[in-house]
Amino acid sequence: MRRRVLGGGSSINAEVYTRGTASDFNRWARQEGCEGWSFDDVQPYFLRSESNDTLAGEYHGTDGPLGVSNLNPLPLTKVFVKSCQQLGMPYNPDFNGPVQRGTGAYQTTIRSARRCSAAVAYLGPAKSRKNLTIETGCLTTRILFDANRAIGLEYRQNGTMKTVRAESEILVTGGAIGSPKIMLLSGVGPAGPTRGPWNSRRARSARGRPKPARSFRCRYRLRTQGRHKPGQIQQAALDDMGRAAIRTVQNRAGCLQRR
Ligand SMILES: Cc1cc2nc3c(=O)[nH]c(=O)nc-3n(C[C@H](O)[C@H](O)[C@H](O)COP(=O)(O)OP(=O)(O)OC[C@H]3O[C@@H](n4cnc5c(N)ncnc54)[C@H](O)[C@@H]3O)c2cc1C
Repeated sequence: MRRRVLGGGSSINAEVYTRGTASDFNRWARQEGCEGWSFDDVQPYFLRSESNDTLAGEYHGTDGPLGVSNLNPLPLTKVFVKSCQQLGMPYNPDFNGPVQRGTGAYQTTIRSARRCSAAVAYLGPAKSRKNLTIETGCLTTRILFDANRAIGLEYRQNGTMKTVRAESEILVTGGAIGSPKIMLLSGVGPAGPTRGPWNSRRARSARGRPKPARSFRCRYRLRTQGRHKPGQIQQAALDDMGRAAIRTVQNRAGCLQRR
């Protein structure tokens, strides 16, 4: 699903407030050469961005622009979480705390019952600044280079091709698919034909070192649904749902099967 809207995915997503695991950040920093991306490096930015209305301390910020709040779980959710605990999964009151495993209700990027997207949190308060111009309806087609120095962008707006020059720097924030696509179409990446969702066009390597569009990984998501009339939740049915969910994860059944 692609999201052409200010705020990107944060304007249409499920609003679950979740960070990556510390071990992933640390692996990128230590084994993949992403200097400055260890969990210790990025955690201060998470804390600075967060305005949590409930949690505070080592793992949570309370004064940032991004509103975070608790859900009021539905009865079905509460019973499901209890079922998971009865089946041996530990209760976790905070998935952004020291441990991410377990069962519980997640927090959401919602402030005062309204979605707090990246656009709401960051663009809204800044949009009247004189040094900010927001253009919509634009599709970046490539980064312009002078030798190996990025100097501007080429983009299409309402059917017209345009260019813009950078005065100091360019940040590419097109998302997990959009950013590597822009880089590959700009000649940044491995030599030869590209593969992936953009394989109808070919990018040749002018600047071959980085590896955009490599090492994509799927994340697993399990959604269980059930119907109940108020006051008629059947514990046995929920236990069955919990067991089925756990069995699916343990056995990597269905869509979780390794290929
Ligand atoms: C249905 C759905 C539910 C999700 N639920 C959750 C959730 O509950 N919790 C959670 O943490 N995450 C969730 N995610 C994932 C989360 O939304 C993304 O990880 C996050 O938005 C990524 O942010 P980003 O800034 O890297 O990229 P994006 O949000 O993808 O933003 C990239 C932006 O760049 C634009 N763009 C791309 N290419 C170009 C181009 N060539 N020219 C111009 N603009 C371009 C896109 O239109 C988009 O606006 C969900 C995602 C989806 C799709």
